Amino acid sequence: MSKYWSDFVSQLEPYVPGEQPKISNVAKLNANENPYGPSPQALEAMQSLANDDLRLYPPMNADDLKQTIAHHYSLVKEQIFVSNGSDEVLAHAFNGLLKQSKPLLFPDISYSFYPVFCQLYGIEYEQIPLTDDFSIDIEDYKRTNGGIIFPNPNAPTGRVLGLEAIEQLLRANPDTVVVVDEAYVDFGGQSAVALINQHSNLLVVHTMSKSRSLAGMRIGYGMGSVELIEGLERIKNSFNPFPLGQLQIAAAIASFNDTEYFQQTCERIINSRDQVTERLQALGFEVLPSAANFVFARHKDTHAEALALALREQGLIVRHFKRPRIDQFLRITIGNEQQNARLLSTLHEILAA
Ligand SMILES: *Cc1c(COP(=O)(O)O)cnc(C)c1O
Repeated sequence: MSKYWSDFVSQLEPYVPGEQPKISNVAKLNANENPYGPSPQALEAMQSLANDDLRLYPPMNADDLKQTIAHHYSLVKEQIFVSNGSDEVLAHAFNGLLKQSKPLLFPDISYSFYPVFCQLYGIEYEQIPLTDDFSIDIEDYKRTNGGIIFPNPNAPTGRVLGLEAIEQLLRANPDTVVVVDEAYVDFGGQSAVALINQHSNLLVVHTMSKSRSLAGMRIGYGMGSVELIEGLERIKNSFNPFPLGQLQIAAAIASFNDTEYFQQTCERIINSRDQVTERLQALGFEVLPSAANFVFARHKDTHAEALALALREQGLIVRHFKRPRIDQFLRITIGNEQQNARLLSTLHEILAA
């Protein structure tokens, strides 16, 4: 608290990301980062641009990147919005599309940044409980709303919703915007991008932080009808007209052009996820079916918080949420093969003790 803060700032409860410990030899399985590095071509592209040209402002509309993304998803560049991480795309969507006179709907167990954005922008919201098996039932969303947002696959559950269900939601709500936050879609599930040209109320948000291993570069993008994208551009050009620098733009384009590396690393993570799931089940965990690069698991007789602490003492950091309904669960990011093996053997020792 400070006397210099406005009342508004004093009342904010900011989002708290997974910690970034400085200790070495830690297996960081708490923030859904990619264990494999970015595409070597993306690194090269950035290195080649670290020169005097950085004195210039970046291209105003990042047109080359929009073109690359548009081509990748069979859209046109006027259907693409790019920004500094998908959190910033989401922020502009909350402010520009989801702030309406009726309440915004999102699941009770979901990305914990959503209520923070609502608080920041003064958006009324209703949290719709996930079903007992932690899935989204779209029947629960057929009610008056000023917009709907959910991650698909959902975080932190990892569960995925099919495209038919999303299409039903879009049809039932033609006058409000439906945002599908597909941060993890490259690890499983079908992208709602395929529905964009039939539904002008759909915004699909992607990040390059997870499947493309560029969390440190802060690149996200939104895809939707030209009118939705124009709305986001109006906010962006009233806030920060240059959210992406030259290096970000170059890294993103190079990453999209290196399809082979992208597919190989995603496949490796998906295979590891399925193996880790089986091994956790053998250790007595219930694991929700995951289409993401993490698993959400609870042990039949050991408390999640105690497990998280014991893992931490062994240098393995996982995420535990002290929140109703999910405080028995651990969210464990899929690491590289060595990290996963270390996780499983350490859990084995803890549970045998
Ligand atoms: C990681 C994550 C984001 C944020 O991604 P950035 O592009 O790094 O800001 C958004 N939504 C969900 C559901 C996420 O898990």
